[in-house]
This record gives sequence, structure tokens and C-alpha cells, in this order.
Amino acid sequence: MSLLIKDVRLEGATTSIYIEGNTIAAVGGKARVEADTVLDGKGKAAIPGFVNTHTHAAMALLRSYADDLPLQEWLEKAIWPREAKIEPEDIYWGTKLACLEMIKGGTTTFNDMYFHMDQAARAVKEMGLRAVLSEGFIDNRDADLGQQLLKKQGSILKKIEGVGTDRVKAALGPHSLYTVSRESLQAMKELSDTKGYLVHFHLAETKREVEDCLSEQGMRPVKYVESLGLLSRQLLAAHCCWLEPDEVDLLARDGVRVSYCPVSNMNLAAGAMPYRALREAGVLVSLGTDGPASNNNLDMLESMKFAALLQKFASGDPTVAPASEVYEMATLGGARALGLDCGLIEEGRLADIALIDLRRAELNPAHDLKSLLVYSAHGNVVDTVICDGQVLMKGRRVPGEAEIVRRAAEAGQSLASRE
Ligand SMILES: [Zn+2]
Repeated sequence: MSLLIKDVRLEGATTSIYIEGNTIAAVGGKARVEADTVLDGKGKAAIPGFVNTHTHAAMALLRSYADDLPLQEWLEKAIWPREAKIEPEDIYWGTKLACLEMIKGGTTTFNDMYFHMDQAARAVKEMGLRAVLSEGFIDNRDADLGQQLLKKQGSILKKIEGVGTDRVKAALGPHSLYTVSRESLQAMKELSDTKGYLVHFHLAETKREVEDCLSEQGMRPVKYVESLGLLSRQLLAAHCCWLEPDEVDLLARDGVRVSYCPVSNMNLAAGAMPYRALREAGVLVSLGTDGPASNNNLDMLESMKFAALLQKFASGDPTVAPASEVYEMATLGGARALGLDCGLIEEGRLADIALIDLRRAELNPAHDLKSLLVYSAHGNVVDTVICDGQVLMKGRRVPGEAEIVRRAAEAGQSLASRE
């Protein structure tokens, strides 16, 4: 199967993009003039699909269920009691809803941690997106419980991988240092080393996490995680709001990838990630929305704006986190963080592309497209989405969307009222 996008704007020029199978086969002069499917790119700009490196997609079911609370209270009093009642079918519909929302906003890849991830895998496969999926691992720092849960890891990973598409990859999801025992974290590290799995983890999110870690372990979170041998290129650490300079150096030394989640961090008043220090140290920073219960959407365009504004506000310096850096964070940075060959429109890359409707009022006049996307736009400027060479949305229409919204809304209502 081949796909041709004709007369589309790309990096300031009008060109064509030729896709063969799931790969960008040619850009510009070398692009063929015919294909099985031809998309008219007039009035549109092609950009790489966004890569959301930290979310809990099916938390869409708990969107607006509990807001305006501190993180621990939000988790302990509102979210965890509801999550205890979640059924596999809820995850399927919640993930479908999240995938629909992501497609509508130009996201083609996401890194997800939640429960019943075989159901999330089924939803992702059907929706056509690319995802790295990890089953959230919480043993409440009870090593015996951890032992029992660890025995199930193999079959969970197999179920995710068994969904049967290269677009879905499995990862390990130890939730955080305050919910997982030292023994289980070390076991996860060994599993990651031997099988090459990415470890998706929450780290140094709140001040309380730092204070508790200091009083219980006698060291700060990054140092504690280092003492367990967990710092490595296989670690994708979400948040990292509370870092001392020597912790930034440790993350840089060991090649840890960071997911910056500015909207969630502001929403829960968690803190502002030390972006400039991380960047100067050479740490790979990508962008995440976090789950739709703490964001409360999955709009990467909105997250790009907050990513820039939070850094400017927190540092008092408007030159920090310029549009070009934030745009790269949300595209190529995410692809690199997840070890995927997408995030750029060039020959040989995976064909994950969003077409932006340049005729929208908020995108004119068009002095600088990256600046417009970061500061002016929301997800609704996306007209067409292609993932793995397949057209998932055209003219803002996704097949089956009304049914997905209806079924997911029913699942969310049922979950909220379940005894
Ligand atoms: Zn999270």
C-alpha cells in the first residue's frame, strides 16, 4: 500500500511526501506522482505526529471526577478507591476514548501506564496508534506482596506483546518509590537489564515525595533510585520536578530520559521541573500530558504551551524553553525517549504524520509555524492524522467516534457509582 500527500507545506516549502507501507519512502523531488491513496495537502502543513511520553490513558474515565486536591489526597481519597473497582472492559473503552482524543489532537504515539494493559493493547491496536504500554506495579512497599505480583509480570508482558502488532510495545511500570518496595524495584531493574524493557516510573514529582524519601531512606529520590541501580538509559522518569544539581548530573551521567508534564504539575501544584539545568546537562527531555484525570485532556499542543510558559514564569526569564525546543520535545524528543524511529518527516522514518489546517484564524498570519503551534493553537487545528502509514483521521473525522464516546461515557458513569 502506498500513500501520497501532494502539495503540502513542510519546513517552509511546498512539497510531496510519499509513503510506502509504514515508512516515509520519499520527500520532495523524489516523491512519486501516483499512489494507491492520494491526499491533497493544499492549505495544510505536515508535521511529525506528537509523542506523548507520560500518560494513563484510561484515566479518561475519571476525568472531572475529582479536581482541586493535593496529589496524595487526590490519589488516596478519590482515585485509588475508584481504580480498585475498575474492570477490564472499562480499560478497553477508556483507552479507546483516550486514543480518539489523541488522534483528534495529532498525537500518534503514547507511553502509557495503567491496569489491565492487555485491554489497552486491544484498544490501541484497533485505533491504529503506536504505544508503549506498562502495567502499573504497586506493592505498597510490601516485599511479600511484591513477590506475588512479580510472578505475574511475565504473563502480563506476554499478553501485551501478544496483541500482535508492531505498533504496541511492552514496558515495565513500577509506579514510584513511594508505592513500590526496594526489592520489587531491584527485580524490575534486573528484568529490564535481561530483557531490554523500558522502565516507566514517576520520580521526584512532589516536595512531599522528597521529604518522605529523606526521612525514610536518608537520601533524596534520585540518590535512592541510584542506590538501587535503577538509573540507566532504560529508565523513563516522569515529572522530575524536585532535583538538586547533583541529581541532575546523575540523570545526565546515566542517560535517564525525562518526561516533563507541565499541565499536571501546575494542576496538582507539584512544582516546576528544572528544565534549563536538565537541558544544559544534556538530559533528554520529552513531553507528557500525564493522565486525563490530572490534566484534564490529552492535548499535546496545549501541553507545549504550558511547557514553555511554566518555565518562563518559574525562572522569570522569557527566553527559557523557546518554541523550537518545546516543539522538538513533543516530537523527536519523545521518539528518542521511547527508542522509536518516528518524530521527524524524512526518508526512512516511520510514517507518523499530522496535517495542520493552515486556514484557521489562530494560525494567521503565519510568520513562524512552530511558534504558532506552541503558543496559538490547540489540538483542533489538526485536520488529518497518519500513523504507521494508515490514515486514522481525515477532515477531523475518525470512523466510529460517536460509539466510542457513548460507550466510554457509560463506562465512566458506571465506575463512578460502583459500590
Ligand atoms: Zn503519572
